[in-house]
Amino acid sequence: MGILEVKGVGKRFGGLQALGNVNLSVEENTVHAIIGPNGAGKSTLLNCLVGKLIPDTGSVMFDGQSVLGRKPHEINQMGISRVFQTPEIFGDLTVMENMLIPCFAKRDGAFRMHAFEQVFHEKELIEKAEQMLDDVNMLDKRNMHSASMSRGDKRRLEMAMCLVQEPKLLLLDEPTAGMARADTNNTIDLLKEIKQKRDITMCIIEHDMHVVFSLAERITVLAQGTPLVEDTPENIKGNPKVQEAYLGE
Ligand code: ADP
Ligand code: MG
Repeated sequence: MGILEVKGVGKRFGGLQALGNVNLSVEENTVHAIIGPNGAGKSTLLNCLVGKLIPDTGSVMFDGQSVLGRKPHEINQMGISRVFQTPEIFGDLTVMENMLIPCFAKRDGAFRMHAFEQVFHEKELIEKAEQMLDDVNMLDKRNMHSASMSRGDKRRLEMAMCLVQEPKLLLLDEPTAGMARADTNNTIDLLKEIKQKRDITMCIIEHDMHVVFSLAERITVLAQGTPLVEDTPENIKGNPKVQEAYLGE
């Protein structure tokens, strides 16, 4: 059994069947990529895993427990963290302040605004955040205003904000979208480094085949809300069905 087991998941938006009948099994400590054309349902699937959407049918099991019916912050506390398609950081806050929010949320459940001041003075959390910033080579930027950072650094910070929660499963929705090649390569290196340093499972949605083939051990191809094929990167590359549905688009 995989750490993540998705069975028969369907999701409809009005007249549109965004997900048909999705089965997906992600093995612990692997990097599993989900690829597919625009509108295939990749983000919808991710939203069903983190409690942002509730599927109409099917089941989602994580680490032996059902995530369905749980709130996003509860699923986060179970050990799933997510990097969004567009960076979600607080521009008005410093890098360090941004880091402390997910630390707090993981420990105490939902982040409470009235606890704002207190959060920024908790030694234990600060040390954890410092360690993580050091791991992603951002410790020198700890007091920087997040809004003034480059797009690449914002992405790096966002990833650090997920990793500081020490998730068992990290979900990434197009982590290199809009990045220049140099930043994309930095992101690939960073994810490889993280994978080497700790036990973590990654599920990555990605459009850039260079990223997919650099990182993934298994690939699921999603087309029109249904998995077309799941295989190793080598076999996916040579699969004519995949070429037709995706690579040749
Ligand atoms: P992908 O991430 O693979 O590009 P999405 O999961 O974002 O695809 O979208 C799948 C389909 O569902 C698309 O046709 C999209 O327009 C539609 N869709 C996604 N979210 C919503 C929503 N909240 N309401 C209505 N339609 C949606
Ligand atoms: Mg998407």
